Amino acid sequence: MDKYQVLQKYFGYDAFREGQKELIDSLLAGKDAFGVMPTGAGKSLCYQIPALLMEGITLVVSPLISLMKDQVGTLNQAGVHAAFFNSSLSAGQYYKALELAREGRYRIIYVAPERLLLEGFLNFAMQANISMVTVDEAHCVSQWGQDFRPSYLKIAEFIRMLPKRPVVGAFTATATSEVKEDILAALDLQNPTMVTTGFDRKNLFYAVRMPKDKFTETLMYLEEHPTESGIIYCLARKTVEEVCDKLLRHGIRATRYHAGLSDTERRQNQDDFLYDVCPVMVATNAFGMGIDKSNVRFVIHYNMPKNIESYYQEAGRAGRDGEEANCILLYAPQDVVLNQFLIGKEVEREVFEQEDRELIKARDRERLRQMAFYCTTNGCLRDFILRYFGEYTVHYCGKCSNCLTEFVDIDITEMAQALVACVKSCGQRFGMTVIADTLHGSQSAKLKQNGMSANSCFGRLSEVPMYRIRQVMQFLNQNGYLLVTDDQYPVVKLTGKSAEIFTKAPIMMKAAKELNKQSASVKAKKEKKSASTAPADTDYGLFEELRKLRLQIARQERIPPYIVFSDKSLKDMSAKKPTTREEFLKVNGVGENKCKKYGEQFLEAIKNTL
Ligand code: ADP
Ligand code: ZN
Repeated sequence: MDKYQVLQKYFGYDAFREGQKELIDSLLAGKDAFGVMPTGAGKSLCYQIPALLMEGITLVVSPLISLMKDQVGTLNQAGVHAAFFNSSLSAGQYYKALELAREGRYRIIYVAPERLLLEGFLNFAMQANISMVTVDEAHCVSQWGQDFRPSYLKIAEFIRMLPKRPVVGAFTATATSEVKEDILAALDLQNPTMVTTGFDRKNLFYAVRMPKDKFTETLMYLEEHPTESGIIYCLARKTVEEVCDKLLRHGIRATRYHAGLSDTERRQNQDDFLYDVCPVMVATNAFGMGIDKSNVRFVIHYNMPKNIESYYQEAGRAGRDGEEANCILLYAPQDVVLNQFLIGKEVEREVFEQEDRELIKARDRERLRQMAFYCTTNGCLRDFILRYFGEYTVHYCGKCSNCLTEFVDIDITEMAQALVACVKSCGQRFGMTVIADTLHGSQSAKLKQNGMSANSCFGRLSEVPMYRIRQVMQFLNQNGYLLVTDDQYPVVKLTGKSAEIFTKAPIMMKAAKELNKQSASVKAKKEKKSASTAPADTDYGLFEELRKLRLQIARQERIPPYIVFSDKSLKDMSAKKPTTREEFLKVNGVGENKCKKYGEQFLEAIKNTL
């Protein structure tokens, strides 16, 4: 068998994706390989296929128990003997599995890094024929990253202890150059084939919205997409509970996840989500590492996250099957304040030298600033993200809320002058909210207390809606006419450029055309529809039938539905409508094993609807 046959037979695909072939060829030739590819790009196949073509055993070092379980489940479904060794096994199960491993029962073994140097495992590894070691989530070896795992530093030592050096592969979705260098050094990769694929996830639609009421916006989305599975990320545990409760009261099958819940509840809720019992997960960022659920159709951020790295990672959990998916960020200016507060707290919790602490805080504040820029930019959102990761693209993707919004130039000279005057007259002592409230002329107790209700600028922009005042303030901040400080309680200050506001008229700003928020989302939807139905005509009635059958099988076998077949496979099935075994094998994601196991049932279901 060659790599194409393995791809078809076990995984049911007929072409490799970008980067896969080179990495596979390298490993097969005994040359180390290092793949930097975004989430969902297909890193697993890069080592699973060589593993099936090589003599001996492949070890996959992976940091996450849930991910291992999922991957091994998927492999077993495909007819590959695989196992995992981690702390979720009882002592009895562990020794049994080691025994089977010694007998050579498994081609692929997933192992937690902490296990590598433990006596039982090391003994086995020293005697076995280990032909390849691959390191998944290799960035965990880097002290630069937020996912640093000290036990990853032992991997190189483990490899050196083996009687014969196996070929080594490393894979990650983190692309910064510091992390890459750390990986090369700490894993002691030898002249590896390096492949970095583009970070663009073409099937994701990005949107930023600034709704009056986030909950209503969320509910509307869920009601418009009733059969879809997705994640709603909130910053605080309390918000998770509130949103989840309210959704349940509105009849949405939602569940929740955060670090304050018991282990049992977390596990149960996670399973409910994976198995589509509760298709909507409301969670803090504690949820998702290692979640491989491929049919996540949307990720809504109820709050702005702390930086673009986190956003890209969390939003990237949508659409892993390559089908269209939406990533929507619901932004409110308070999110910035909330994050600022959290940065301080997070740094206090860890043990750092005072100097490091200040450095880390400064770095985190800068990252947060970038994140806030993302939420307020008028430019292409995809372009913003890719540039952040150092990739250069054209400024227009045609598939984000900004590219689909019409912008007009508006004259903001008068507003800008009022803002600068107000900041000046209050002695540069207040934050954005006080300034905006003052200019708008809000009747708040706070303004009376701090004296701003008597300020000469009070009510000067009473005709201008609040969001516009804030927007103009953001614009002045981004363009250096004003400065919002990085402190825990940020204050608006003047800059060397502030005075230009009075001499450089007119000051123009791009703003979304009034009343087009609605039309933009309708337009986006239309474009999406036509894009996703273009290649072949999916029969949505049949698709729903097949989904039901999939769920029924998944429940019987106690595995997540997407491990039976991905959404993509079901869509392809509903388009191709196979009637024979041969035709069934041509469906995307149908390999021999799955054809044997499920072919009859699905062919029957398809026949019944013809
Ligand atoms: P990553 O680990 O890079 O996040 P995965 O390995 O989990 O991504 O792959 C994501 C999805 O893409 C999986 O459902 C996988 O089966 C699918 N996939 C991988 N390679 C191919 C391919 N060559 N053709 C079609 N689908 C693929
Ligand atoms: Zn765009």
